[in-house]
Amino acid sequence: MQHIIFRETDLKNTNKDISTTALSAEPVSNFIRNIIDEDIRTKKWGGRVETRFPPEPNGYLHIGHAKSICLNFGLAIEYEGVCHLRFDDTNPKKEGKEYVDSILDSVRWLGFDWGGHLHYSSDYFEKLYKYSEYLISQGKAYVDSLTGEEIRNLRGTLTKAGTNSPHRERSVDENLDLFRRMKQGEFSDGTHVLRAKIDMASPNMNLRDPVIYRILRAHHHRTGDAWCIYPMYDYTHCISDALENITHSVCTLEFEDHRPLYDWILAQLKDRVPCHPQQIEFARLNLTHTVMSKRILMELVEGGFVEGWDDPRMPTLAGLRRRGYTPFSIRLFAERIGVSKADSWIGMDVLENCLREDLNIRAQRRIAVLKPLKLVIVNLPDNYEEECLVPNHPQKPENGSRVLALTKTLYIERDDFMEVPTKGYFRLAPGVEVRLRYAYIIKCVKVIKNASNEIEEIHCSYDPETKSGTIGSKARKVKGNIHWLSSKYALKSEVRLFDNLFSDSRPDVSSREYKRLLGVNSKEIISAYIEPSLNEAQPEEFFQFERSGYFVADQLDMKTDRPVFNRTVTLRDSRGKYKA
Ligand code: ATP
Ligand code: MG
Repeated sequence: MQHIIFRETDLKNTNKDISTTALSAEPVSNFIRNIIDEDIRTKKWGGRVETRFPPEPNGYLHIGHAKSICLNFGLAIEYEGVCHLRFDDTNPKKEGKEYVDSILDSVRWLGFDWGGHLHYSSDYFEKLYKYSEYLISQGKAYVDSLTGEEIRNLRGTLTKAGTNSPHRERSVDENLDLFRRMKQGEFSDGTHVLRAKIDMASPNMNLRDPVIYRILRAHHHRTGDAWCIYPMYDYTHCISDALENITHSVCTLEFEDHRPLYDWILAQLKDRVPCHPQQIEFARLNLTHTVMSKRILMELVEGGFVEGWDDPRMPTLAGLRRRGYTPFSIRLFAERIGVSKADSWIGMDVLENCLREDLNIRAQRRIAVLKPLKLVIVNLPDNYEEECLVPNHPQKPENGSRVLALTKTLYIERDDFMEVPTKGYFRLAPGVEVRLRYAYIIKCVKVIKNASNEIEEIHCSYDPETKSGTIGSKARKVKGNIHWLSSKYALKSEVRLFDNLFSDSRPDVSSREYKRLLGVNSKEIISAYIEPSLNEAQPEEFFQFERSGYFVADQLDMKTDRPVFNRTVTLRDSRGKYKA
């Protein structure tokens, strides 16, 4: 069975059996796979599996959409079927080409290929219109001339039936005439709507004569000003599915109550559309410390709370990409969390761990000193230089090694020194010995402070018998092992560190106050030192900076003369007490 947990390098060969190396996540059965297996057994669709991912181009895709993309495209890959990418573009006021382009880009980046199956609901505007005329001719739809508010007031409540509109019994001829004139632009926006004629007393509010067309003068990014009436989502969606011969129309749980309408519309058109797809609902993804709503993400962008849709703190695919997430890690995540019918929250650490697992295998190791403290080795001559061999990957000798120069003056992390060490602190402190990774054991002999009593540099002596990899080094054990860079060769780099977008694990975005819940200091820019070769890193190239985490060269800002790295994720989850 083909499977979506393939690596980027395998993408060109998606028809081949893919070895999943150490990260195998075997497809586990779930209720959707069970339905499809049964349909294949009974030949319900002639063995065909055709799914679709139907985004509305009114924002950038987020990680919740990735769950749906991986599911729909993944099912098509597994069952050797087809997955369509369809833009549900029926609301021209909010939609646009920028969003279309970003969605295409994100789906491709995630590793999926829609082949020739790129569609737009707007391609079906003419057909959708004709089906409406047909519904009218069958007495199944009517033009209502009440205002939006009047329609809402007559809709009833969950416990009280709705009331028929005074226009419900218009004749077929009158309805056809009015509907055609709506299309021709004779009426102003909001004066008439077309409604399905179902049942104003239905316990399901969606069946109380839902509006299926509205008058709206808005320029559409594809059809321009050709239309001044636009079909509603529920009406458009099921017909688009049917026209594309979709077999399994997979959507999120909030559409469960819309399924009777989906089925009602297709039942009315059964002799006119190619098939009647099966709608199947699954629980949407909720991820801690962030939000999964395009509307709210849009508010964060437009309000300047973040620096755009691709801000590395955003849960958008563009943001995750800029942060350094790999497509593989997101597909692995989608597979791990599975699909079910029960709403739940997934901890951000689950997503991060998928990334750590991927990068741990693939990322080359490098050294960076994020918050530098100067260290002088007092018993080395001023011009001393010694080559230290540093492996590119501790578990993969085949990745080779490189040389770092040890010199008299180094940078170490400020955190790796404590003047008065706390209990259990095994790194450098006055009189304490630690190993300089890949080099010698050193001992702190002096602490130099400035006039404000801040530590400015520390002086150490080194033991020449203890070079890493030598016999002498084995004779002596020290507890601390710290990284360093030569002050002579280290390069300056802008490094961006990120924290949760929301400090609350489950931000309540129903309140207008939710912006208060945004993490403070969720972005920190520091000036760090990096290994000399890192200025050659290509945008989006990722590394593990030893002991500090996984980093990526910024997609847009990385320059040879001004290297910029984003911290993608720390080596271990440090969220601890904030966890969901
Ligand atoms: P939002 O609520 O963020 O605006 P949406 O559902 O309006 O999202 P669409 O463009 O309509 O956005 O979504 C396209 C597809 O992605 C739909 O089939 C929808 O069910 C699915 N989807 C959206 N959000 C999630 C989520 N959090 N988890 C899983 N699937 C999702
Ligand atoms: Mg939607």
